[in-house]
Amino acid sequence: MDVKVKKIRGTRDILPEEASLWSEVEGKIREVCRVYGFGEIRVPTFEETSLFIKTTGETTDIVEKQMYTFEDKGGRSLTLKPEGTPSVVRAYLENALFQRGKKTKLFYIERMFRQERPQKGRYREFTQFGVELIGSKSPLSDAEIISLAFTLFEKIGVKDITLRINSIGCFRCRGPFRDALKEYLKSKLPELCPDCKRRFERNPLRVLDCKEDKEKLKDAPRSTDYLCDNCKKHWKRLISVLEKLKIPFLVDHMLVRGLDYYTGPVFEFVSGKLGAQDAVGGGGRYDELIESMGGEPTPATGFAIGLDRLVMLVEKKKEERIPLWIVNIGEEAEEAGFLLMEKLRRMGVRVEMDLTGRSLKAQFREADKRNAKYVLVIGEDEIRKNKGKLKDMETGKEEEIELDEEKIKERVC
Ligand SMILES: [Zn+2]
Ligand SMILES: [Zn+2]
Repeated sequence: MDVKVKKIRGTRDILPEEASLWSEVEGKIREVCRVYGFGEIRVPTFEETSLFIKTTGETTDIVEKQMYTFEDKGGRSLTLKPEGTPSVVRAYLENALFQRGKKTKLFYIERMFRQERPQKGRYREFTQFGVELIGSKSPLSDAEIISLAFTLFEKIGVKDITLRINSIGCFRCRGPFRDALKEYLKSKLPELCPDCKRRFERNPLRVLDCKEDKEKLKDAPRSTDYLCDNCKKHWKRLISVLEKLKIPFLVDHMLVRGLDYYTGPVFEFVSGKLGAQDAVGGGGRYDELIESMGGEPTPATGFAIGLDRLVMLVEKKKEERIPLWIVNIGEEAEEAGFLLMEKLRRMGVRVEMDLTGRSLKAQFREADKRNAKYVLVIGEDEIRKNKGKLKDMETGKEEEIELDEEKIKERVC
């Protein structure tokens, strides 16, 4: 068949079998977030473009290359949100959530949009689960959200996740580190990729992020050696608490994360099962962002996890058996069966029947294919006697049963 209109590159259809896995994961997310005291927030799909330029950062890959930006009919520049934090923080300020308490704990499950090269588990329209813990500067808050993520991984049965973590320091201790890094990179510059040559001038930290040049930069200065006293204290306490929580982590001095607003610890959740594209998500502390958006100075920390990739790691469960399939012979029986089916469904019983007028044999075949536990046969005779034949599909045994929804429910459930 030649479908006339096809989906846009980088988007996808999630079909029922996989979608049920999604809703299971989303259910677990909501459960874990409730236990951890995070409230759900839903934000718009698009925002003013300037929001992302000012927060995510002008020289980041997201803003430079990946945003879906368009002009609406009023001449405003709008952008489909490429990540969650800027929108959530905007909503936090705009709705004055800071007035409700010193700490605000929010989570979201939202669609995001980035024009990236599509690859396994990476789409141009994708879904992220994220949390933002606003108002606490304690390293225990960083540990709290990391612990939340690991609780979730355990609940959905995703194993082999490691935390990769680093501290890139606050805006005060970042200066000396940036200088040392630039000094070091100068001598390496001819060997680096064209992207890094450009980054060297505008955003030298991002050079450490480059997959292509990673090997060449092994002896680069480490941000943790340049931390100010506050950042050092925060970092050491976080590491020690993560050890006490028995969270598997690895300090990665090359980890800087691509976004401008991070200060202090940054981290990624890494799965051994995803190959080179191994991060399922990540986050970090962003103590300066809220003030830069016009709020009071407010520390915050958060992360986002890509659900498209997380769901890939969840093992598919076998589909539950349908308890009952109604097979009918003749028009009269079809309607009687249909009415009975609806009564049972209103009582919460999963039941199916064929309404395409197929033969008895074909209906049985379908019931078998769909793995029905029982088949109820209704024909004209059965209607007259008000009794149908109930067949146990496993044992093949048949019995007569009154065509009464209560009695049928009790028998098959
Ligand atoms: Zn610092
Ligand atoms: Zn590079």
